Amino acid sequence: MSLCYVSTRSAAPAVGLSAAIAAGLAPDGGLYVPERLPSLDVSAFDREGSLADTAAALLAPFFAGDPLAEALPAICAEAFDFAAPLRELGRRGDSVLELFHGPTAAFKDFGARFLAACLRRLPRTERRPLTILVATSGDTGAAVAAAFHRQDGMRVVILYPDGLVSPRQAHQLGCFGDNVQALRVAGRFDDCQRMVKAALNDAELQARVPLSSANSISLGRLLPQMAYYAHAALARWHERGEALNLIVPTGNLGNALAALWARAIGLPIGRVELACNANATLPAYFAGAPYTPREAVATLANAMDVGAPSNFERLRWSFPDEDRLRAELAAHSVDDAAIRRTIAAHARDGGEVFCPHTATALHRLDRLREQGDERPWTVVATAHPAKFDSVVEPLVGHPLPVPSPLAAMLARGAQAQPIEADAQALRDWLAAT
Ligand SMILES: *Cc1c(COP(=O)(O)O)cnc(C)c1O
Repeated sequence: MSLCYVSTRSAAPAVGLSAAIAAGLAPDGGLYVPERLPSLDVSAFDREGSLADTAAALLAPFFAGDPLAEALPAICAEAFDFAAPLRELGRRGDSVLELFHGPTAAFKDFGARFLAACLRRLPRTERRPLTILVATSGDTGAAVAAAFHRQDGMRVVILYPDGLVSPRQAHQLGCFGDNVQALRVAGRFDDCQRMVKAALNDAELQARVPLSSANSISLGRLLPQMAYYAHAALARWHERGEALNLIVPTGNLGNALAALWARAIGLPIGRVELACNANATLPAYFAGAPYTPREAVATLANAMDVGAPSNFERLRWSFPDEDRLRAELAAHSVDDAAIRRTIAAHARDGGEVFCPHTATALHRLDRLREQGDERPWTVVATAHPAKFDSVVEPLVGHPLPVPSPLAAMLARGAQAQPIEADAQALRDWLAAT
């Protein structure tokens, strides 16, 4: 039986998976969601299977009946060709789920590669190249660029907030060349996101320049993110008969939502906590205030500098009962001073170095321990600390080894074009290039 995909705003027709992935945003401005979540239990998965095998089994019901279904195992093999190890954190059964072993050293490589593998296989009648627009607060842009670099018929345009990404992130964003163009926006991430949304919603522009998105608003990035949670939860279940309790560094809410969907489908995932930086839109909501998007503020965990998390719409659609949602999920804000202290303390006491995003989740774990919480927790490590050397190295007092794909990117030249934080400026730029 095949699933339909509907818009969170309910004013657009239901579509199949391929159409939802190709479109990015629904025509009514909402985000595509599966009309219902399938159910799977532990027995649906091969105990000895690889991450790619788990992904293919997990995503099969989402792809059933779609033209991409037959290619799903190949898509998963392409996208999940690096590991997501679940590593002991060294006390009370805690662990770290390392999601940064891909080409750009952040978890977004999984989703970006999966989306690229899907889009590459979709039939296209259009002869003009498809422009993938991506707003990034730091890591998305590089992951998407790496996934689409030098692919025929595809162009990637990255928008990032000038001066608000780490020097190494900026270098990564600008180093691809060929079919990838980086635009540095005189504004913040929310401006970049607004510009992208406006372009995608502009039918007249779309008629001239075929556009798609690759932000976490794209279902083709969100769905595969369930796979590493499923794989880790199954491993933990088989090893200890325990559900996985997760603390997820959160910005746009795509990574954490994938964990919640994996749990709703039937995987052994227990508590999920959201760790946010000083951008406290979600912590305020979960503390009981009405949902109020705000302007983003710049923090050390810049890939989480989001004041209006776009997947909130999907979260509310998935959990329509607000009281239950608030009971089942918690969100906490961690400021820059606490991020710094956490990185320094873990390097000193445990000899382990973490990125500023992962540090928000570690800080939350430290607080839970102080409050006497005895449950085993898994901290989700979303990026390699070497991407944030300018923040991390002074705190830990030594240089960090650079993973080889990152080192190769840093060895290339980089360039980005400046642009105003204005939707019309992006329209003009797209129409002229
Ligand atoms: C994008 C990103 C996040 C936030 O993930 P969301 O899906 O936007 O919540 C956290 N950490 C790192 C390193 C990221 O790149």
